Amino acid sequence: MGIPGRYVKEEELKRMAGVIEYKPTAKYAYSAGQALSVFLKGLREGKIVGRTCNSCRRIMVPPREFCEYCHSPAGEWVELPGTGRVETASVSYISARRAKLREPEVVAIIRLDAPGYRGDEPDFPGIFHRLCGVTEEEVKGGKVFGARVRPRWRPEGERRGSITDIECFERW
Ligand SMILES: [Zn+2]
Repeated sequence: MGIPGRYVKEEELKRMAGVIEYKPTAKYAYSAGQALSVFLKGLREGKIVGRTCNSCRRIMVPPREFCEYCHSPAGEWVELPGTGRVETASVSYISARRAKLREPEVVAIIRLDAPGYRGDEPDFPGIFHRLCGVTEEEVKGGKVFGARVRPRWRPEGERRGSITDIECFERW
């Protein structure tokens, strides 16, 4: 035996319960903080800026105030050449806003070239971004892993100090 009652349509429920509809016009300001601000300003100038850890010497991208591995304060700023190679890549069928994409896009972790790095360290300065000019089949066949890539910057006047100032990474 089911629970006594009946289904109520949404409009009926609104009438019965009473509904107040309100769209808040709240505005937010988010402070990027000291280290991330330098990174974002760098992007606007077409640069990828990292920061060295005073203790373990790794380069953090994006730069941070402290190294989360050894809890040491960060040290000098480093401008990276921006070039690197594909550490891993994947085909994505959904957008960053969780909408289904008509055309899938390729996203990758790029191991960035950096002073003091040989390129085979398990921990490396890297960036997560789109890969352009790469087909789904190339990713599925593993052909992009290890490919040399560089950032494709948006034109200077269109940069906003955002990670999207880099349109994507492309092979070269
Ligand atoms: Zn460290």
